[in-house]
Amino acid sequence: MKHILKVFAVIFLVSCSSKVEVDKTTFGIVIHGGAGTILKENMSEEMEKAYRDKLTEAIAVGHAILKAGGTSQDAVEQTIHVMENSPLFNSGKGAVLTADESIALDASFMDGKTLDAGAIAGVKHVKNPISAAIKVMNSSPHVMLSGAGADRFAAEEGLDTVPESYFITERRFNALKRVKAREANKQTALTTSEMQYYRNQRIGTVGCVALDLNGNLAAGTSTGGMTNKKWDRIGDAPIIGAGTYANNASCGVSATGWGEFFIRSVVAHDIAALVEYKNLSVVEASKQVMQKVKDLGGDGGVVVLDSKGNVAMEFNTSGMYRAHMNSAGAIDVKIYKNE
Ligand code: ASP
Repeated sequence: MKHILKVFAVIFLVSCSSKVEVDKTTFGIVIHGGAGTILKENMSEEMEKAYRDKLTEAIAVGHAILKAGGTSQDAVEQTIHVMENSPLFNSGKGAVLTADESIALDASFMDGKTLDAGAIAGVKHVKNPISAAIKVMNSSPHVMLSGAGADRFAAEEGLDTVPESYFITERRFNALKRVKAREANKQTALTTSEMQYYRNQRIGTVGCVALDLNGNLAAGTSTGGMTNKKWDRIGDAPIIGAGTYANNASCGVSATGWGEFFIRSVVAHDIAALVEYKNLSVVEASKQVMQKVKDLGGDGGVVVLDSKGNVAMEFNTSGMYRAHMNSAGAIDVKIYKNE
């Protein structure tokens, strides 16, 4: 009798655990490639196609990893690599230039299961800054490293390093020249449209949030920051809670926009807190926080994914390069507001 009961218990446990396996079908991934004044009338057909193709290529890489049972960390890292390696975006190759015509890259990563996080700021030689952020998380006792020390750490960890010239493109060099020319001609305070112009020279930060088949969320963000930045300025992208946040209990968030406002509004954590403590949907939470940013005078956007696969892609600018894929493989690639 005892033996029969044992057999039933084993059958019961096996059926329960296989049920959990069967339920593990939800995964998803969402990315952005920067927000700002992105208008169809200012975009050539070739450029628009190049952006849509690159977003599609990037998200497909992460989706394939998740579909095969890979981790959300791997999906975020590999997806961001595609965008960092493309000169279209303000991250890795094609990053904006600082006032002294150099490069200073920021990135961060957060694991929603463990709440571990890593970030780097102001690096000049790591080919893929998102990998350096992940290394800080996995192989150092710290959360954030900066400048030459961060570059040295990445090299010691065996990450690919490149000369600064690798990152610099003619497009971003010309943007810096235009901003400097305006600045030189300016005696009085900047008008709103001039501020708008400056801000738009930095579009193209990249970010990704992924949910894997084990229900784990991860988020990452990578950027060159703002054109003409001075004094080793650091934006929101490498700040955990501002530009990036992930918690399995709520959601994962990656932000893009005018960094100073995103730091002051602690955007990514604020969204996660509204989801966790007030039970808001990711869309409601994102709308609420982006409105706060707007009220302060800031602009930009966020991509958000919760542990059920619900997605938000909210922004208060005329466009945001963005894409989403769910478990079924349905893909949504968008640029402008009214798409
Ligand atoms: N948030 C970035 C920064 O302020 C720039 C951007 O996302 O456009 O450095």
